[in-house]
Amino acid sequence: MHKRTIAEPYKIKVVEPLRMTTRHYREEKIREAGHNTFLLRSEDVYIDLLTDSGTSAMSDNQWAGMMLGDEAYAGSRNFYTLERAVQEIYGFRYIVPTHQGRAAEHITSQLRIEPGQYVPMNMYFTTTREHVERAGGIFYDCIIDEAHDPANPHPFKGNVDIAKLDRLVQEKGRDAIAYLSIAPCVNMAGGQPFSMDNLHRVAAWAGRHGIPIIFDATRAVENAYFIQQREPGYAGKPVREILQEMMSYGEGCTMSSKKDNLVNIGGFIATNNEEFFTRAKEMVVVFEGLHTYGGLAGRDMEAVARGIYEMVDDAYIASRVRQVEHLGGRLREAGIPIVEPIGGHAPEDALVDRPDGGHAVFVDAKRFLPHVPQDEFPAQTLAAALYVDSGVRGMERGIVSAGRDPTTGNHRVPKLELVRLTIPRRVYTNLHMDVVAESCITLYEGRKAIRGLKMVYEPPELRFFQARFEPIIP
Ligand SMILES: *Cc1c(COP(=O)(O)O)cnc(C)c1O
Repeated sequence: MHKRTIAEPYKIKVVEPLRMTTRHYREEKIREAGHNTFLLRSEDVYIDLLTDSGTSAMSDNQWAGMMLGDEAYAGSRNFYTLERAVQEIYGFRYIVPTHQGRAAEHITSQLRIEPGQYVPMNMYFTTTREHVERAGGIFYDCIIDEAHDPANPHPFKGNVDIAKLDRLVQEKGRDAIAYLSIAPCVNMAGGQPFSMDNLHRVAAWAGRHGIPIIFDATRAVENAYFIQQREPGYAGKPVREILQEMMSYGEGCTMSSKKDNLVNIGGFIATNNEEFFTRAKEMVVVFEGLHTYGGLAGRDMEAVARGIYEMVDDAYIASRVRQVEHLGGRLREAGIPIVEPIGGHAPEDALVDRPDGGHAVFVDAKRFLPHVPQDEFPAQTLAAALYVDSGVRGMERGIVSAGRDPTTGNHRVPKLELVRLTIPRRVYTNLHMDVVAESCITLYEGRKAIRGLKMVYEPPELRFFQARFEPIIP
């Protein structure tokens, strides 16, 4: 028996027209953009799969809440709504709003790290690590080894390796550790979840040593969904309860509301530690705004609050992950090489790039374009070709993103050379996903004609955002 379709648990009330362009027009636009999808104008893009950050569609209920924005400088009623939402859904007592996730990380890192202290994390996230290092902290990777192997089928590659934590304590002592920074659905491992069992054991370890856990809760709902789907004992348990159980192991969290919370901007710090809360309130005034708005308008806080209740709807989160599976499945059926890490689902279900734990599909550009050597930027080439073919925008995650080794000046050559197709929440239908799939299939059939690129402008930092390329003409 085939698996039953799970349709979107919502219908469409407002539409935003998409601009259809001609191939000729897109050829011109990609040339103007230096063959870099980051440099395209959004209005020239048909289906935008660049990122899922801040690109969610809000509900009618969220938009209605925007009209109830209380834009008082102090004590906005929307702050209290947000506070209640965080208390009820995440289970933390105190909350400090911030304009987005990295602002919450900035304040937390500055207040909780003594220079020279270690912050163990299950892999790193760019902004999280940056703020830890700015505060004088040292990033320590405590994720299980399986996470670094894209082909490994482990269902919970976000798990923490407790032996690595033991080693750190033995070598440096307990006081050398500021806190454990634990991220659900680890972004840089491709969105890999941890298991509740692992979290339980990590929390017991942390409790024994008196070390707090501060979550990067950005993708906690997606992690809760994978626990429901994959972990014995959790089938049928509402994601809302799983999320609460998960958060109960932490002292608090930092949050980028631009992901799980279904809004376009926002973030917060939440904690049960009253002293930390007091100090965070003192600091947020300096960097963000008064502690009852933290750089957000009242209406934005209302939208976050309402998004927090909507995100824990089981039907919503299931349909979201199913949409990613739909796209991954169509690519796989056509024999297109995608990263296949294989989660805990039944084999017929393991269609998706698990490394991205339900928010993206990765096309393997090395295997897609085997005739394009890595120093001719196969993923950059493929992302540009996809745009020209259909107006679909993806992102390079390969040698361009990896940058140069600061000591040798050579390209860092990553094992993975990928085009990331990231699916915004509640924005596109599965027919849009079919358009994306069919464009990939067309390119795959004509792949031998696709030629590589040469880089003609290279910024010194984070070059993938602004680098420019030209086709190699033989
Ligand atoms: C996006 C993200 C952040 C940073 O949040 P911003 O809102 O972009 O500042 C931090 N951690 C993780 C895991 C993220 O995905």
